[in-house]
Amino acid sequence: MNKFPRSAYVHIPFCHRRCFYCDFAVIPLGNKVETLQGYGSKTVKEYLHFLYKEILSIKHKTSLSTIYVGGGTPSILDPQQIKQLIDLFKENYGVDYGAEITMEVDPASFNLDDLHGFINAGINRFSLGVQSFNNKILQKSGRRHLREDAEKSCSWLKKVYSSGLIKSWSLDLIQNLPLSGFREWKEDLKKAITFSPPHISIYDLNIENGTVFKKLANLGKLQLPSDEIAFRNSETTHLILKKSGYSRYEISNYCLPRHQSRHNRVYWSGLGWWSFGQGSTSSPWGQKLTRPRVSKEYKEWVIRQDKLSLDSSLNNINYVYQELDEKIMLGLRLKEGIDIYKFFEEQNWENKKSERNIIRLLSKWERFLESGLLVRKGNRFFLSDPKGMELSNQILISMFEWWDEIN
Ligand code: SF4
Repeated sequence: MNKFPRSAYVHIPFCHRRCFYCDFAVIPLGNKVETLQGYGSKTVKEYLHFLYKEILSIKHKTSLSTIYVGGGTPSILDPQQIKQLIDLFKENYGVDYGAEITMEVDPASFNLDDLHGFINAGINRFSLGVQSFNNKILQKSGRRHLREDAEKSCSWLKKVYSSGLIKSWSLDLIQNLPLSGFREWKEDLKKAITFSPPHISIYDLNIENGTVFKKLANLGKLQLPSDEIAFRNSETTHLILKKSGYSRYEISNYCLPRHQSRHNRVYWSGLGWWSFGQGSTSSPWGQKLTRPRVSKEYKEWVIRQDKLSLDSSLNNINYVYQELDEKIMLGLRLKEGIDIYKFFEEQNWENKKSERNIIRLLSKWERFLESGLLVRKGNRFFLSDPKGMELSNQILISMFEWWDEIN
């Protein structure tokens, strides 16, 4: 790969508080945060100072076709700060005409004026973290917003989208949160559709180490929907969204025609991207570099990179190469799947080794092809929808087993 990345991810680590399922690199600032002046503003300004330094440290800056401002809760920032960030890219990298510029927003962390401010700053796509419209579920998950906040944010986004002020927006939900039984989940989906979001992400709840949910689970106090309910919930998701015109283009993502997230496709397709900010991971050439998750260490890291006055993402020795198993895993998430032979060619293994490894992988996949979880068309393999996508873990586990065996 010799082309420079055309996509950039920016991590804004601030949140009001930490949700019970979240293990991201976030800094909870409390409810009173005011990022321009007053409570929490010093922390925010200091972080932005180092973030900008890192953004400018890339030597070969080339024009970008997607920018994604994620977090954390980027909508904690003031529109002026978002403008400053987008302008930094415009002035130093260049941003293509028609580029997709996305920002994650959380209900109750912005108002209508802020939304217009973000749009004026250059944001043309939003991803709204609703997670659920049910107050009991929201509270049980440690979310700060309520149903009313989510509804308000959805109607604002619907309005700015219908007026042509933004290109698209996504409504994000989490499936199988505590208290989310079949009836509750169906209500959440139906409510989501009333706002006609052009894109919907449905994430499955994962219980991560270090989270409140993990602690509750260890104490036997976390009650989640049973496997049977979880399976029915997935089936309902598929049926309701399909009936409403959404197509599933990735395991967790559904959209109306022409509303796929261009930025996220870069990750799944193995193209390179820059990444900036505490805890974020860049992969300009298929090699991954993760920044420290702790503020103090991140700042020291930025200073070290700056002193090298080299292109940090090109010269750092702490790279981890993206391995073939990871490329296959990401590629299989997409509706179009992967050309397995092309992936093997890129490994530069000698012929016999390559052949041997393909045969071993295909023999592991035989039972999934027979049961219809996996589909083969020529050299291309993809998950069937909904069965293969729902049970993708089985296939991925077999693939990781194969990877361990051949290494
Ligand atoms: S708002 Fe998002 S990033 Fe922040 S703690 Fe909650 S889940 Fe994590």
